[in-house]
Amino acid sequence: MGRPLVASIGSAALKNNLQVARRAAPGARIWSVIKANAYGHRIDHVWPALRESDGFAMLNTEEAIGLREQGWKGPILMLEGFFHADELPVFDRYRLTCVLHSNWQVKALADARLGAPLDIYLKINSGMNRLGLAPERVNNVWQQLRGLRNVGEITLMSHFACAEKLDGANEALARFELAVEGIVAPRSLANSAAVLWQPQTHYDWVRPGILLYGASPSGQWRDVATSGLRPVMTLSSEIIAVQTLRAGDAVGYGARYRARAGQRIGIVAAGYADGYPRVAPDGTPVRVDGVMTGTVGMVSMDMLAVDLTPCPQAGIGSHVELWGEHVRVDDVAAACGTIGYELLSAVAPRVAFVTV
Ligand SMILES: *Cc1c(COP(=O)(O)O)cnc(C)c1O
Repeated sequence: MGRPLVASIGSAALKNNLQVARRAAPGARIWSVIKANAYGHRIDHVWPALRESDGFAMLNTEEAIGLREQGWKGPILMLEGFFHADELPVFDRYRLTCVLHSNWQVKALADARLGAPLDIYLKINSGMNRLGLAPERVNNVWQQLRGLRNVGEITLMSHFACAEKLDGANEALARFELAVEGIVAPRSLANSAAVLWQPQTHYDWVRPGILLYGASPSGQWRDVATSGLRPVMTLSSEIIAVQTLRAGDAVGYGARYRARAGQRIGIVAAGYADGYPRVAPDGTPVRVDGVMTGTVGMVSMDMLAVDLTPCPQAGIGSHVELWGEHVRVDDVAAACGTIGYELLSAVAPRVAFVTV
């Protein structure tokens, strides 16, 4: 028994959330997005529960090689393609489906010596202006790719900037449709928000990420509260010390919090070096011994403090849920001015993980 801070990863919740995606997009195949080490959940802890996925999408060749070595034989989509042409032998050897978003990648692929053609996702800029070909270039590049011996199946792809908004995908969808007019090929556009809320974008392959982990693509839990999604990660710890404050006593660095009257507080083994946000204000939701309460004072590197007023029975060893089934990561994130994605993917390497 070491430090009590643990991230437990719920396999049943992952399976449930994959089913939610299937029901939402019944005609599409699913790329389960496991970039950023499965949004901080760690690929080795999630992929067995997601093996009913049609494929896995990610970013790094290291992660892709790891997944192959753990036995995944199905499709792997590399969401940004290769970063340098010298990665192409890895794409070839491990049979990685490759996004092409820039001209230099098309040239590098044309010049490569591969054992077999690679399947390609041709990425089109539909208005986000991050990655992708300009719409007016798509037809030429498509023709060019079709003539290359290194190119297998080509899928047309784009990514939405605003799919969580009402009608927020339609402008991008119209740009995409115009760009690919007349091209017969599979299409892949939808992220989690579009899987849930933009059925007109589902096409052949969808690419849910955050919904698989049971957080909201909009950053607001209320938007998915009735969707059947279940939080996958529970980040929990224990109270390791108790302080009894008198009126005027301060807590933590900078003495940001001061007790207005007598108050018990608990010190929790979790801090910003674990990925708990340092910007969390007083009152950020946390659950102690089954009771909702709030943080007090500045989060330190290894510890944070919680108000024990609503749970007078709590003491040293009491269970603390920082986020998970009862404390929505979206609510913690909202208190901190960010989204669940950032908190989950920032869980630090020193945190212990278990699969349940
Ligand atoms: C991250 C990512 C996704 C998944 O996004 P969510 O909002 O987590 O569903 C899908 N497609 C691409 C290209 C991405 O980079």
